Amino acid sequence: MNETGLYLHFPFCVRKCGYCDFLSFPAEEETRKIYAAALIREIRGNAGVLRDRKVTSIFLGGGTPSVMPVQQLRRIFSVLYECFDIADDCEITMEINPGTLNEKVLSFVFDHITRVSLGVQSFNDEELRGLSRIHTAEEAEESFRLLRESGVRNINLDLMSAIPGQSAESWEQTLVKAVSLRPDHISAYSLIVEENTPFGRMRDEGVLVLPDEETERFMYAETARILAEAGYERYEISNYAKPGFRCRHNIKYWRREDCLGLGLGAASKLGAVRWKNTDSFEHYLKHSADPGMLVCEMEDMTRSAEAEEFMFLGLRMTEGVSAQEFEQTFGSSMRVVYGDVLDRLCGQGLLYMPAEGRYALTDRGIDVSNMVLSEFLLG
Ligand code: SF4
Repeated sequence: MNETGLYLHFPFCVRKCGYCDFLSFPAEEETRKIYAAALIREIRGNAGVLRDRKVTSIFLGGGTPSVMPVQQLRRIFSVLYECFDIADDCEITMEINPGTLNEKVLSFVFDHITRVSLGVQSFNDEELRGLSRIHTAEEAEESFRLLRESGVRNINLDLMSAIPGQSAESWEQTLVKAVSLRPDHISAYSLIVEENTPFGRMRDEGVLVLPDEETERFMYAETARILAEAGYERYEISNYAKPGFRCRHNIKYWRREDCLGLGLGAASKLGAVRWKNTDSFEHYLKHSADPGMLVCEMEDMTRSAEAEEFMFLGLRMTEGVSAQEFEQTFGSSMRVVYGDVLDRLCGQGLLYMPAEGRYALTDRGIDVSNMVLSEFLLG
């Protein structure tokens, strides 16, 4: 039976962080309840879509799923189990913002969630204020402790480097603090300043003070060193896990496996077909019972676009890509399509062969991954 992931989007946050361009906004409790009812209609409308498929991962993302009224989350889950065949050992991740954890959320987590992704970002209060986060470092630590005490055995900490006002020392302190808590997984991303965010505007006005390039490179190298020394395996460019704690849902994405996205703006992939739900809240509420009416972008990928994606996403993982799988998927050899690029990048020490028929980024290749991955664009 085919395995599939489910992604559920919750577009609400207490307030917007200065760097955030995700589809999220503050909303009253009544609005969040109305959204939950619409999401339930969409789930029911999709009940037949995953026939003969086993759901092996569910990801509650956002926004901030933990600002949803817990009663509504429970209703959503009972409908999910009614409509889909969910594996007994399904990995069920919920993103939680440390400023939103309370007794009710903890009881929901205890009943339904197998993995929590805690949005810590930094253990430095000044940096957190600069990002407009709603929590302090102490609250993040307390949230971690509460989750552990309530029995969550799989916790990811989301951390962010290269943020305004951050020094190499303060990033090291954040990493050291993070590993001292012994989470099972750490995602460590560098800040990307997006257009149409307060940070984007500040950058344009020249008032956003970011670490310089050399400091950023140093932070990047320190991340890999400190996490490796603490026993975390890097399995993707920005993701590190203790053995047995890699994120099943995200691996599906990098391996281009199927995932049905539910909720405002959610993206789906089933086979070669991709689509995205509307970003319009009003349209979503009005049409959620009829999922076809929600689709705003539909793409049937060309073979060459799929081959590019196979390389871009697969090479993000340290296990790299398999030439045999490429051939089975596309009917032509990876060497025929990419032989010159593979040889050149191997010669430059940016790619290597970890096993017969596999290609992966070297440490140096990871450092310049954007440039290396762009080499796999076809025509
Ligand atoms: S909590 Fe996350 S989704 Fe919400 S505004 Fe901040 S970064 Fe964006």
